[in-house]
Amino acid sequence: MTKVPTVSLPDGEKIAQLGLGTWTMGEQGRKRGEEIRALRLGIVDTAEMYASGGAEEVVGEAIAGRRNDVFLVSKVLAQNASAKGTVTACERSLKRLKTDCLDLYLLHWRERIPLAETVEGFTALVKAGKTRYWGVSNFDVGDMDELMRLSGGDGVATNQVVYSLRRRGIEYDLVPWQAKRKIPVMAYSPLDQGRLLSSRDVRAVAERNGASPVQIALAWVMRDANVFTIPKAGSEAHVRENFGALDITLSKEDFAALDRAFPPPAKKKPLESI
Ligand code: NAP
Repeated sequence: MTKVPTVSLPDGEKIAQLGLGTWTMGEQGRKRGEEIRALRLGIVDTAEMYASGGAEEVVGEAIAGRRNDVFLVSKVLAQNASAKGTVTACERSLKRLKTDCLDLYLLHWRERIPLAETVEGFTALVKAGKTRYWGVSNFDVGDMDELMRLSGGDGVATNQVVYSLRRRGIEYDLVPWQAKRKIPVMAYSPLDQGRLLSSRDVRAVAERNGASPVQIALAWVMRDANVFTIPKAGSEAHVRENFGALDITLSKEDFAALDRAFPPPAKKKPLESI
């Protein structure tokens, strides 16, 4: 298998460009073994929200004895993200994950709690050694600007947002905004939750590359060295197929065909979410 390319966090640490999401994992007991095998392969993105803590428990089981082999990411729910609530939510997640430190802790989305409070909680967690980095999710350019103006706000390591061939809105402004500040984009739902796999246009590009539609959709997201992504895959076979995306080099013709089928944004669109 090809060596996994990396993206740089703002402080220069390099992390894998391709990881694994866990939304819906931990919901069905019969799938647990297969999910655990799938999770033992790299960056793992989870959240206290997924299966109400159940996804974190599956991840905890998967990484037992191999914590240092994964870059572990979890998220605090918006309603828990006060200065104190962020710290206690993280401690609950660490317990379910059976570890004492996350690599990255994200605010899942923004609600009413002032952002300054959440940053205070994140900063305390980094200081206490409970997470190495913190970041945000579902933040548009205006939210990022506001964050950067807060004391400590420029410590943000990434912003996790929806991004796929079908949802290209962020290319208009958020992608260049983050690139300018060397804050990588963490792309979620890169397969548009599986819907991209039946696209005739993606299939056509896949056929001429001797690849699968999943691999084309992922190679396309990873064409930008400031973007890393976390497709969810519930089996080892799917994870391995997804890593095959790293062997693909899309041609000019491929990009042009994909642009015709899924045009880039011509104007600002409000940030989408799933
Ligand atoms: P996604 O990654 O775009 O798509 C996941 C779907 O694709 C699953 O149904 C999966 O099926 C299927 N799939 C994956 N690899 C496949 C393969 N090789 N062949 C066929 N089907 C394949 O959607 P997502 O789960 O919404 O997004 C990924 C992750 O991003 C989530 O799990 C979560 O960690 C994160 N996320 C974050 C937010 C946020 O608000 N921050 C929102 C949404 C998602 P199988 O399960 O059968 O493999």
